[in-house]
Amino acid sequence: MTGSTPRTVGPGAKRFGACGTIGYVTRIVIIGGGPGGYEAALVGAQLGAEVTVVDCDGLGGASVLTDCVPSKTLIATAEVMTTFDSSYEELGILVADDTPSVDRPARVVGVDLGKVNRRVKRLALAQSHDITASVTRAGARVLRGRGRLEGQQDSDGSRTVVVTAADGSEQRLTADAVLIATGGHPRELPDARPDGERILNWTQVYDLDELPEELIVVGSGVTGAEFAGAYQALGSRVTLVSSRDRVLPGEDPDAAAVLEDVFRRRGMNVMARSRAQAVKRVGDRVEVTLADGRVITGTHCLMAVGAIPNTANLGLEEAGVKLKDSGHVKTDKVSRTSAPGVYAAGDVTGVFALASVAAMQGRIAMYHFLGDAVTPLNLKAVSSNVFTDPEIATVGYSQADVDGGRIDARVVKLPLLRNPRAKMQGIRDGFVKIFCRPGTGVVVGGTIVAPRASELIHPISIAVDNNLTVEQIANAFTVYPSLSGSIAEVARQLHTVKRAEELA
Ligand SMILES: Cc1cc2nc3c(=O)[nH]c(=O)nc-3n(C[C@H](O)[C@H](O)[C@H](O)COP(=O)(O)OP(=O)(O)OC[C@H]3O[C@@H](n4cnc5c(N)ncnc54)[C@H](O)[C@@H]3O)c2cc1C
Repeated sequence: MTGSTPRTVGPGAKRFGACGTIGYVTRIVIIGGGPGGYEAALVGAQLGAEVTVVDCDGLGGASVLTDCVPSKTLIATAEVMTTFDSSYEELGILVADDTPSVDRPARVVGVDLGKVNRRVKRLALAQSHDITASVTRAGARVLRGRGRLEGQQDSDGSRTVVVTAADGSEQRLTADAVLIATGGHPRELPDARPDGERILNWTQVYDLDELPEELIVVGSGVTGAEFAGAYQALGSRVTLVSSRDRVLPGEDPDAAAVLEDVFRRRGMNVMARSRAQAVKRVGDRVEVTLADGRVITGTHCLMAVGAIPNTANLGLEEAGVKLKDSGHVKTDKVSRTSAPGVYAAGDVTGVFALASVAAMQGRIAMYHFLGDAVTPLNLKAVSSNVFTDPEIATVGYSQADVDGGRIDARVVKLPLLRNPRAKMQGIRDGFVKIFCRPGTGVVVGGTIVAPRASELIHPISIAVDNNLTVEQIANAFTVYPSLSGSIAEVARQLHTVKRAEELA
């Protein structure tokens, strides 16, 4: 980003063609090095632009350092414990001390949370280093510091980004395009401020050395449900406080019902229609006051009440970047903001809080600005997963879309109980559900509730992305016995429904 670098003006193919071929180098500055930022950096550098990524915490962003990677690493330990505990008896495994008591029905003795958390942090840091290495290898520059836009576009179309390092020193970068990928941070309730010891947000749990004895999780969205399930498996007594009628209000209702049933069966106290208003520490305990005046107590409280986009002090308003009422940056399907030359990707846009979507938005921004072939963001092909036990994976149109009349679709749901592999493995909870268009049988969505549903959803994702029909899925071989056999079986049933309609 030297001042003497020749510049190109205006986005598009002309600019991309300029990379190297006629002596121009397009300068791109990315603020935020999470999946939205670092994936964009890789693409930008590969397409020949001069890319600088500015991040104040480390590449990988919150996704790698505090959110996605750490939580899934913690859940990996929980998953092994649940799988063993819930099936060893049925599968005929003998254990050394086979005298379960009322207090301790489980075989697994416990967990060394300090060790688990040290592994979590080590892995997250290593992942961040790996990302920094690959971004640098691709030719992008990484700057540690806090970035912000300064003022409007220059007369030549460029913009200035000011980077403030931890020691207060400042650096000014000139950019032909800027990508805002600053993510978000945990929302706090005014009367429930985390203290990092007993009242925690999800970024602070990895500093715990000992397992919380009685954990109250406030918030039953994806983050709350994942942590509630994980800590219960690790051995905490968990209360899940949900302001809604059920856990996971944004997910498939059948899937949420399965999970809630499993949670309760394993001894979790799930409190529906219970809005937490205040959380305070009382000695070594916490008190959670609900909106109706009830008070519940525990040893720790984890707040999982959503996230706030990181848009403050970025100079967005001065640069002409418009925000939504929710505070997220407004973008279109190719990641453009309202300000020319300024793109945005990831959680800061509020489009879909997923690492995969952030990465796609970041890549799309680069393809668009650098004039490469670009496919606008298609949210109807996004697959996502709730990493509970069982997992809940979804893609495409949902039950809510069908029930709300947003799409006309046929649906078949098959419980896993009927699957031979599930029977062999002692899996009782879960199902496969597929939605297809009535006339054509084209697959438009699906939900799978199963162990490792995140891996099983892929064939349905491919079908949704490529407009495959239920007939095509039904005709593909599946391994016998396998959980994916249920996907083919559901497709066969949908195909039969379609044939019956055609013949009627
Ligand atoms: C507990 C939890 C678990 C999750 N698990 C999953 C999962 O399993 N799968 C999934 O797909 N998604 C998951 N998500 C969501 C996922 O983490 C986010 O969607 C993803 O991190 C968004 O990426 P991003 O690039 O927008 O920003 P982030 O990953 O938030 O990174 C933004 C980066 O920008 C930096 N930054 C902010 N402001 C500035 C500034 N002014 N200057 C420089 N740098 C700045 C931040 O420090 C951060 O490093 C999870 C979220 C949570 C909370």
